[in-house]
Amino acid sequence: MTDIPAIYQGKLQTLDEIRISPLSRAYTFSDSIYEVIPYFSGKPLCFMEHIDRMKKSASVMGLDINYEKAIGDIKELANTLTNQDGYVYYQISRGVDLVRSHLYQDDLEIESFGYAMPASFPSSALSAMLCSDERWGRCDIKSTSLLGNVLAMNKAKSLGCQEVVLHKDGFMTEAGASNVFYFDSSGTVRTSSLSENILPGITREILIKALKDGPFCVKEGSCAISDFNDSPCIWLTSSTKGMLPLTNLIGTDYKLEENHSGYLEVVELFNAAMQSHLEVSV
Ligand code: PLP
Repeated sequence: MTDIPAIYQGKLQTLDEIRISPLSRAYTFSDSIYEVIPYFSGKPLCFMEHIDRMKKSASVMGLDINYEKAIGDIKELANTLTNQDGYVYYQISRGVDLVRSHLYQDDLEIESFGYAMPASFPSSALSAMLCSDERWGRCDIKSTSLLGNVLAMNKAKSLGCQEVVLHKDGFMTEAGASNVFYFDSSGTVRTSSLSENILPGITREILIKALKDGPFCVKEGSCAISDFNDSPCIWLTSSTKGMLPLTNLIGTDYKLEENHSGYLEVVELFNAAMQSHLEVSV
């Protein structure tokens, strides 16, 4: 990873040149938030929506961020992508402690870190496993406290899966690094409402808006995992996956109905919405 452009405390370097303190609160407490902004041919998708979500996360955490500087850092990183597909990862921590302590000093300097990564986004269907959601109760904050996601996803990986679908007491929350949609047995598109302790995904929002303009009925609410047994199609959304269907979901009888006409129509509406966003992106 020698040539990956990266920024730390406003200084553009390469990823392997950056040196951080082990007393960074990102390191000791996951006292940090992040965003992953996707770029298509060098253009960001929903840039300001990512900044607005960062503002919401920061506000809940009481982080006093200089957004002009953060936006400047992200744009500086993005410039290195020069017309390529890829993403910018940007993380802000509360700062670096003098001595490790749960209680932080009020005058800590915010610590910022990011990098730009050229990437080709995946397009093939995924396998997933149904898992109990054992994460904390504020998954609406895009914090780096992702241990629950990491443990579930790596358990699923050992069974050949690339993702998990999480549930709490029989009701779906979201995936390990994506939001989840599916067709129920009556043909309605279903997804968990934001009150189910999930991340308000930017891609989720693009899709919900796109579907509301079309012929589909989208129901946000509680989603029983028993619905999966009769679903012809479950799919995930995220900034780096776009929209990807699940071939199977270990722990259920679900099996993807290939070329499901409703799903193909949803993909078309989603792609058109993505295109419109990118046309106005600068
Ligand atoms: N849910 C979780 C837990 C995630 O980590 C992510 C993305 O990383 C998403 C949902 C999708 O969010 P977005 O569409 O903004 O990428």
